Amino acid sequence: MKTISISKPIIDKEEIAAVKRVLASGTITQGPEVAALEASFASYCGTKYAVAVNSGTAAIHCALLSLGIGFGDEVITSSFSFIATINPILMCGARPVLVDIYAEDFNLNIQQVAAAITPATKAVLAVDLYGQAFDVGALKRMCDERGIALIEDACQAIGATYGKKRAGNFGKVGCFSFYATKNIMSAEGGMLTTNNPKIAEAARRLRQHGMTAQYEYDGMGYNYRMPDILAAIGRAQLAKVEDILARRRQNACMLDNGLKNIPGLITPIALPGRGHVYHQYIVRVQPEFGLKRNELARQLKECGISTGIYYPKPLHHYPHIAALGYVLESFPEARRAATEVLALPVHPLVTKGDITRIVTAIQELANG
Ligand SMILES: *Cc1c(COP(=O)(O)O)cnc(C)c1O
Repeated sequence: MKTISISKPIIDKEEIAAVKRVLASGTITQGPEVAALEASFASYCGTKYAVAVNSGTAAIHCALLSLGIGFGDEVITSSFSFIATINPILMCGARPVLVDIYAEDFNLNIQQVAAAITPATKAVLAVDLYGQAFDVGALKRMCDERGIALIEDACQAIGATYGKKRAGNFGKVGCFSFYATKNIMSAEGGMLTTNNPKIAEAARRLRQHGMTAQYEYDGMGYNYRMPDILAAIGRAQLAKVEDILARRRQNACMLDNGLKNIPGLITPIALPGRGHVYHQYIVRVQPEFGLKRNELARQLKECGISTGIYYPKPLHHYPHIAALGYVLESFPEARRAATEVLALPVHPLVTKGDITRIVTAIQELANG
């Protein structure tokens, strides 16, 4: 029996041909492929600018730095996300101020953001967790009124929509990742999107050692360049992004239908006005289900079905974040999510037959 993986990169003949083409060209570091990927990416997201870097973490770091965020500044963000949402805040010498999430969409609780604002608050870093937009309307209004920058961690959300806008276009800066497991990938890679020419220019400078002209530097910089070899993979992926997302949505829809009436199992809540791209298909396993979340994961594994736990702990339970002065008991929704969430395979290489196997296995385990 074939194991159904939780994620698998799509590597077709286009990706392989793209890498060969770039290797044969002799220009393998940042060059024309990066420029072409940036142009198509900006056009896809509907932003004026896109700046390619070599990871999502680098994109978030450049976004914060390009807004002048540094020592003594506070950045409000979620207590329930991947660690790379928060580490770039520390990399700037700024302080991450965590708040709780909503149970429905696992995204920033806007009332708690409002309550966390101080004179030191420079930005809110909001995540489109699992591929669904946060409450963009309410958060953007609040940030605009208070003169605080809104940064979007859209690393899981290429193509996600809020109203008519696509992710990357919800705040002042958007940050994407092309890590191998993301909805589109370039093995490793990232992208920053913005409509602000100054931010784009700052990001271009920061990714290249702070260079303004040949061997001229006007400040600190990094080596965050994306190689052309990887940009070419990204271009091949971006060309089929709509197909990739459609297949994820289709798989999510079949899982929804198969799992909707199981007591103690909560399927993802797709909120109105938001287009979910299902980077992860997350169910919540609650006490009425009978099996504990980890036990369900273990039994599914025995049936050849891989699952994932994103994430097993809220961010304030990691030592370098706890050291900022958080108590373990804070953020009850984030803590509850960490004990209940389970990701089921939803990626485009999961077949209709695989979905039937997943649904049947869970139904049987539910009936004990
Ligand atoms: C993947 C991811 C990142 C980091 O991206 P890398 O390319 O791995 O550096 C940041 N935030 C979130 C929410 C992510 O899912």
